[in-house]
Amino acid sequence: MAMKSFRGKGVYGAVAIGKASVFKRQEADVRRVHIDDIAAELERVEAAKAEAVGQLSEIYEKALKEVGETNAQIFEIHMMMIEDDDYNESIKSIIETQSVNAEYAVAVTSDNFAAMFASMDDAYMQARSADVRDISNRLIACLSGGGGVSSESFDKMIVCADDLAPSETVSLDKDKVLAFVTAAGSSNSHTAILARNMNIPAIISVGEEFLKSVKDGDNLIVDGHTGEVIIDSDEETVKKYEEIQRRDAHKKALLQELKGKENVTIDGTHIKIFANIGGVDGIGAVLANDAGGIGLFRSEFLYLENSDYPDEEQQFTAYRKVLESMAGKKVIIRTLDIGADKQIDYFGLEKEDNPALGFRAIRICLTRPEIFRTQLRALYRASAYGDLGIMFPMITSVSEVEKCLAACEEAKKELAAEGIPFSDKVELGIMIETPAAAVISDKLAEMVDFFSVGTNDLTQYTLACDRQNAKLEAFVDTHHEAVLRLIEMSARNAHEHGAWIGICGELAADTSLTETFLRMGIDELSVSAPFVLPLREKVRSIDLNG
Ligand code: PEP
Ligand code: MG
Repeated sequence: MAMKSFRGKGVYGAVAIGKASVFKRQEADVRRVHIDDIAAELERVEAAKAEAVGQLSEIYEKALKEVGETNAQIFEIHMMMIEDDDYNESIKSIIETQSVNAEYAVAVTSDNFAAMFASMDDAYMQARSADVRDISNRLIACLSGGGGVSSESFDKMIVCADDLAPSETVSLDKDKVLAFVTAAGSSNSHTAILARNMNIPAIISVGEEFLKSVKDGDNLIVDGHTGEVIIDSDEETVKKYEEIQRRDAHKKALLQELKGKENVTIDGTHIKIFANIGGVDGIGAVLANDAGGIGLFRSEFLYLENSDYPDEEQQFTAYRKVLESMAGKKVIIRTLDIGADKQIDYFGLEKEDNPALGFRAIRICLTRPEIFRTQLRALYRASAYGDLGIMFPMITSVSEVEKCLAACEEAKKELAAEGIPFSDKVELGIMIETPAAAVISDKLAEMVDFFSVGTNDLTQYTLACDRQNAKLEAFVDTHHEAVLRLIEMSARNAHEHGAWIGICGELAADTSLTETFLRMGIDELSVSAPFVLPLREKVRSIDLNG
């Protein structure tokens, strides 16, 4: 058979090579049966509910051990959904008014509730549609005397399915699953989050064509890095992926050794190592690489992926997901930073002669307050779900910071008036990525909780070298003394005026500068996830007294 390739979304970056096992769900065949003893039928529902709740609490315990409390919570929600008054009232009334069997009443209720959730505007509520189906199938299985929705026993297989419910994902025996690939699914779903946290290579949303093509026992390659699935690949391709696996294994060994260890130098100086992400999809790598938090969430990617302004609800859902997945660790979300190299059609921005020196980032937000307000409201709403920091890009002056802080106050005031909860511990910070901000960092430090140095832009503006212009490479000294002095000055001013300071530009990952940064007193370095552990290794090798 010829090699066939499909592409979906990788939710956990690793490669698996193995045989396919097409997931067969034990679909109960629900028939409509007339019953006479309504009271007995209602008792059957109660007994099945008790059994289903028992199964769910076992799954919850398993999830708690394997994927942590925050991610296990979905099964607590499932237990609550089974007890939900409206859901139960619907089952009861169908049995009573139609004199029908419990299985049928649950199936109809499931369809109705799932359709209702699916039609809601809120992406989070839409995703609950799958949860209703999940608990209803479980209830029907219990009613029919089935053993619940369970996975078959696979022998080191790549599980291929149309979609997997959260409970099915957790019920899979991790030791026997090499990877899983689903035709449907969204990166927003709990299933995707669980997969990331279970460290299983997973690809979602590969499309129906894949399921039509794959058969039990087919040879598969799953590349969670790129989202590619290959059926019956040729020998050369297998060799290529085996090499990627070897590289991944090497990295993993490094990870195992350093996971859970502190970022501390030989002389006992601590530094935080956080990770940068561009979207919710990046969380898996952050967790897999044991970052202490998220130091930069480039929120503009949410806007770049959309064909229109993402509304408050959409943004809230994304931010909340990141905060929930990070389970109480710090998450710093940067407000919209478009313009210059990141252009978005629907913003309708005019073409500029010097876009890097143009209408970008905070300049857009302060000119178009409705965009800023929507984002700040979404951020504060999400703040109730974790430890949020908000930071503002491209700051050059005191008055810009004043306006940003006022906009935050306004958003909080609105939410408070509407009775919407938010955290009162949100830290506010600014990017130090213009020479102006570094030079007046004494004044700026008094106004905010933290600084984060954007060395990519700080270098371009300090050296007057467009970061997009490949011709200038020979002129860009990334270790230029001017840039390092500006960072040092910002660090000193931050500490003298009560703020902490991190670096989130690419220079943070440059291990030849780690010692320099430590000597400056930098409190945090935020890098792309694969650099977290190499950086930890470097920090642990440094002796500042040596
Ligand atoms: C920077 O400028 O260093 C930075 C982190 O922001 P971005 O690369 O997104 O401009
Ligand atoms: Mg920048």
